[in-house]
Amino acid sequence: MNPLVIVGTGLAGYNLAKEFRKLDSERPLLIITQDDGRNYSKPMLSTGFTKNKTADELAMNGVEQMREQLKADIRTGVAVNAIDRVAKTIQVEGEIIPYGDLVLALGADVFRPPLGGDGIERVYSVNDLQDYARFRDVVAGKKKAVIIGGGLIGCEFANDLSNGGFSVDVVEPVGRVLPSLLPERASDAVANGLASLGVKFHFGHSVKGVWEDGAGVSVELSNGERIAGDVVLSAIGLRPRTQLALVSGLKVERGIVVDRFLRTSDANIYALGDAAEVDGKVLLYVLPLMAAARALAKTLAGEPTPVQYPAMPVQVKTPVCPVVVSPVVPGTPGNWEIDASGNDVKAVFKSPEGQTLGFALTGAHAGSGPLKMELTKQLPPLLD
Ligand SMILES: Cc1cc2nc3c(=O)[nH]c(=O)nc-3n(C[C@H](O)[C@H](O)[C@H](O)COP(=O)(O)OP(=O)(O)OC[C@H]3O[C@@H](n4cnc5c(N)ncnc54)[C@H](O)[C@@H]3O)c2cc1C
Repeated sequence: MNPLVIVGTGLAGYNLAKEFRKLDSERPLLIITQDDGRNYSKPMLSTGFTKNKTADELAMNGVEQMREQLKADIRTGVAVNAIDRVAKTIQVEGEIIPYGDLVLALGADVFRPPLGGDGIERVYSVNDLQDYARFRDVVAGKKKAVIIGGGLIGCEFANDLSNGGFSVDVVEPVGRVLPSLLPERASDAVANGLASLGVKFHFGHSVKGVWEDGAGVSVELSNGERIAGDVVLSAIGLRPRTQLALVSGLKVERGIVVDRFLRTSDANIYALGDAAEVDGKVLLYVLPLMAAARALAKTLAGEPTPVQYPAMPVQVKTPVCPVVVSPVVPGTPGNWEIDASGNDVKAVFKSPEGQTLGFALTGAHAGSGPLKMELTKQLPPLLD
């Protein structure tokens, strides 16, 4: 029997392999990754300075342990370049490998803004363990970080780097932090919390260029202002990795298009995690990929199972002002009902009929498990 081949050793690829092995311990399993195959939890990357952890300390298992645990052949440091869907083979840097079923767990790429200036090579992003290792090396002994983007990852790193002793500037073109997740009052609470750590915000302007300035950089904004820093971290968003699927003739929209069975437009090829667009939804979070891994493992083990997404609130790891949010799709009819005191905000989004469609909790409210549970119960499922 040709192997089940999984491409990707992020949380999606490894969780699928773990779930699959609970149901089938015999089928040959080949896992291929272009990174080093260490098992780690990506959300921990934006807590590493607070905890003072190196990349090696954040890794939970080495690749040898994963081979044993999953009874799998794991090939590291190699990219899958092409899929021959007729022959049911993949090309891995010149080698042709057959598959029975193929799963694409390719993750998402960092979006890089087009920037001018001669200091672009000093702009970093942290989207995997190897990026994190590189970034830690670069910032060793440095003190001043400029973060491009005040979304989830930008805010988490602003808090984390501040805790790690850095002075931090955040540039966010929209006039507030977490603009796509939170109502304004809750954004203000998070910004106030971060400001209390010394974070300086530059709202309403984008970064135009990054220039070398001695050992550091000078970050030029669209209004002409310049911010001096030692290092720049770009955190302006992620895009599903769709290139391999696209050149292989699979259906791609915002992500690799899959149905509720995580099946692409080819019956033997599946996708999950950040790379996938599941029934029209691109959700770059851990809980959706865990639900997808459980369902797909059953399907691959012979029991076709559609994925279901309950409401899945997201935690933003800004401990100075914690956030739990179940975001509302922009343009949804309804209103935010807000109850706030200082940085403690309880915001509930209600439809015109009075149904709860989303919520945002900050500060002390975010720490209240019962409140989060009560509001989550009121939400409709994301995919039922
Ligand atoms: C800093 C940070 C903090 C986050 N915090 C949270 C959080 O608190 N809560 C939350 O829910 N989510 C959080 N997220 C998002 C969450 O971590 C991701 O949704 C999740 O880890 C994605 O897993 P994945 O396996 O789909 O992708 P990835 O982990 O990116 O894995 C993709 C894999 O595919 C491999 N690959 C890609 N292309 C090829 C190829 N052609 N050939 C071979 N291998 C290939 C890569 O090497 C890699 O192994 C955070 C993300 C970041 C960056």
